[in-house]
Amino acid sequence: MRYRSTVRNAPLTSLRGAVLRGLAPDGGLYMPVEIARHSPEELEEFRRLPFTEVCFRVVKPFATPDVPEEVLWQVVSEAINFPVKLVSLSPGLHILELFHGPTLAFKDFGARFMARLMGYFVRSETRPLTVLVATSGDTGSAVAHGFLGVPGIRVVILYPSKRISEAQEKQFTTLGENITALEVAGTFDDCQRLVKQAFSDADLNKRAFLSSANSINIGRLLPQMFYHVAAYRQLPVASVPLIVSVPSGNFGNLTAGIFAKRIGLPVEKFVAATNINDVVPEYLRTGEYHPRPATATYSNAMDVGNPNNFPRLLDLSRSRLEYVQKEIWGHGATDEETLREMRVVYERYGYICDPHTAVGVLGWEAYKHEHPKPAQGLVLATAHPAKFADVVTKAIGTAPPLPDRLAACLKRAKLSLPISSAYDDFKQFLSGH
Ligand SMILES: *Cc1c(COP(=O)(O)O)cnc(C)c1O
Repeated sequence: MRYRSTVRNAPLTSLRGAVLRGLAPDGGLYMPVEIARHSPEELEEFRRLPFTEVCFRVVKPFATPDVPEEVLWQVVSEAINFPVKLVSLSPGLHILELFHGPTLAFKDFGARFMARLMGYFVRSETRPLTVLVATSGDTGSAVAHGFLGVPGIRVVILYPSKRISEAQEKQFTTLGENITALEVAGTFDDCQRLVKQAFSDADLNKRAFLSSANSINIGRLLPQMFYHVAAYRQLPVASVPLIVSVPSGNFGNLTAGIFAKRIGLPVEKFVAATNINDVVPEYLRTGEYHPRPATATYSNAMDVGNPNNFPRLLDLSRSRLEYVQKEIWGHGATDEETLREMRVVYERYGYICDPHTAVGVLGWEAYKHEHPKPAQGLVLATAHPAKFADVVTKAIGTAPPLPDRLAACLKRAKLSLPISSAYDDFKQFLSGH
């Protein structure tokens, strides 16, 4: 597969080029030049074959000829080593739990797959690759766990001191090995500035081999098709159309859903379910796209005012509003509605959802209200409720059970290195690293 830029002003590249670069040289995002449909017979087979085999078949056209089959098989089987669980709350409402990976959020799919792919792509390099990540919370842990123990790659995570929760901090500062966490005396913006400055520092880039692992990387999107196939395998065969509600921030998750639909999975419509940072639902309603600074909410992993995958959504619909509207319907929920929905779902079904998943359920409810014809809803559950224990407790009055994995992690000692927010200190650290 060749990859092109959404801006269409950069040379085509291979999967290797797209993954190691992240962003195209013209500032666009990489897209596969084509997305081939699987035949109905192949789709039928997807229900019967082992899940690893199906994931392999789904991603293979996107990775050929860059990645040899045996390597791709290893990447898929090592990355996706945890289950996707479908919970049916009612005959018409299903929850797809994507949070059974090491950091209890769906970002494990993308991060674990991309880390192993990068590990393969740098095998022929003599210098180790240093992956830089600035995090305000959750991305850091998924990326750190994804790359843990991958040979030839070091990860340096920058996070703002005292501005993230203890549970978030412990998830990426206790790992050791090839993961280093820098505790920056400053804000998240300082962390991002330091990373950006490092990438544009010609002198440093002569000495160090740097890359990034943020959510615009195509290597993170491809494996996000896998769980749509998992849903297809587990959902009861129904004669009514399927509506998939995706709790969204940067819209990587929803973009991957459209990829999955284009390879042939039966989805009638996607719901772009956001919190009050609703620039995309607003665009779908009015045709006007107005990025703005993000507002803090309970579903903080979706506090995004200028979603970085928006150009991909437009690209998939040839930038025509009516085509985007055909594929996606949008809904933004307030914090109050989110809390109430968490309580309603708990009381009605005995099911505890985290605030992001609750936003997804609200998106489905709103869609159904406006489109009262028969349909079944699938809501992607993006995080384990224990990751947002405070909000859950506020909503339902009791704390969600703490998974063993998180409890063990909280007991470990923090290994981060304190650093100032001055670029020279960061550069010195990277040069000596
Ligand atoms: C990152 C994240 C999202 C948003 O996903 P996008 O791909 O950025 O739209 C939703 N929920 C949780 C829990 C997340 O961590």
